[in-house]
Amino acid sequence: MSKQSKRLEALLYHAKPTPGKIKVVPTKKYASQRDLSLAYSPGVAEPCLEIEKDINNVYKYTAKGNLVAVISNGTAVLGLGNIGPEASKPVMEGKGLLFKIFADIDVFDIEIDTEDVEEFIATVKHIAPTFGGINLEDIKAPEAFEIERRLKDELDIPVMHDDQHGTAIISAAALLNALELAEKKIEEAQIVVSGAGAAAISCTRLYQAFGAKRENIVMLDSKGVIRDDRDDLSSQKAEFATHRKIDTLAEAMDNADVFIGLSQPDIVTPEMLKSMAANPIVFAMANPNPEIGYQLAVDTREDIIMATGRSDHPNQVNNVLGFPFIFRGALDVRATKINEAMKMAAVKALSNLAKETVPEQVNIAYSETRLTFGRDYIIPKPFDPRLISEVPPAVAKAAMESGVAKEPIEDWDRYKNSLLE
Ligand code: NAP
Ligand code: MG
Repeated sequence: MSKQSKRLEALLYHAKPTPGKIKVVPTKKYASQRDLSLAYSPGVAEPCLEIEKDINNVYKYTAKGNLVAVISNGTAVLGLGNIGPEASKPVMEGKGLLFKIFADIDVFDIEIDTEDVEEFIATVKHIAPTFGGINLEDIKAPEAFEIERRLKDELDIPVMHDDQHGTAIISAAALLNALELAEKKIEEAQIVVSGAGAAAISCTRLYQAFGAKRENIVMLDSKGVIRDDRDDLSSQKAEFATHRKIDTLAEAMDNADVFIGLSQPDIVTPEMLKSMAANPIVFAMANPNPEIGYQLAVDTREDIIMATGRSDHPNQVNNVLGFPFIFRGALDVRATKINEAMKMAAVKALSNLAKETVPEQVNIAYSETRLTFGRDYIIPKPFDPRLISEVPPAVAKAAMESGVAKEPIEDWDRYKNSLLE
């Protein structure tokens, strides 16, 4: 298909038959006058009064508990940059569609017209009573760090900035499995991180939670290696500053075990790949074009374990493996947070699932004959029907064990069955 016809196809998809991708559908009967007097006045006053008496009843009588706000100001949209709130709306609606089809979570997409951190936080706090959870989306760094930190502290519903944590969770699951295949320990792995933005910082923090050692990490931004003698570092970058006296990506890559790319296309050369250690793990996740092309990379190193952000190569680091299922688990125990323990539980559930026998329907969905755990299959595929029964329970359990679940699950078999309905 030519570029022009792909463009038209995408525009037509969004415009017809109804503009946009999601709509609101009533869940109660509305055929008779009696139904309407229950749905609205006078019947509606009864649940209002129950909620006024005990605010927790809002979960019993309204859609709050299954409703997530996908909120953006359009300042860092996909690879498109700061395109503004209206132009970000197709992306936020798309996220709503994914929440719905993968985890049956309803979404209102909210586009906010401000770049001011305090205004953004205040707006989200004011509308939070409507929602069971908040997915922050495509907000530029460094504002995104502050916005998320404050909202997590100040609200009692789960808040997650998916661009940071989604990528961290999926790539961490892939990394654990890649290290297992390469027979390397995360504690000993020499890790190069290209990029120091929202995604890179959060990924590296999560790898540390799994055992990666700060002294084995070299991070780079647009100005080069983040060294501890630089005086232009944000507090997030300073967290990863190295004392090694190196200046370039090429120097950092020499004998490295792992390359994590969340930066710019085509900055890794075949020479750099050749200088990496045996069984190099290369996650080149700049979108849409990775730090080194897939074909060039696998042609250069036959022992490579490679992942990208793209669906046309094996091992796509795709956030849809995370956010629907993480929020599902969090909402189902009415978690007040999405905390480290819950993210780590999602990582483990995803990495374990990749090692299980793949159901035939997954092979068929991806036109594969025999997906098996190995270099070309280190993370599950989004259309794997086991994701919904494996990841939310792991997240819910971690929420309970870490003390943030307001409604603990008692009957796990019943819960798992309910997820499959
Ligand atoms: P971001 O916040 O804008 O960060 C980009 C970072 O890259 C900045 O720290 C920037 O340095 C750095 N950078 C720019 N040129 C560089 C170079 N030549 N060498 C090293 N670092 C360089 O963006 P983000 O949200 O973190 O996303 C970064 C990339 O990852 C994008 O391409 C995005 O599409 C991709 N991504 C992919 C996935 C996925 O595959 N699932 C998920 C999330 C993001 P300064 O700090 O100096 O400006
Ligand atoms: Mg995003």
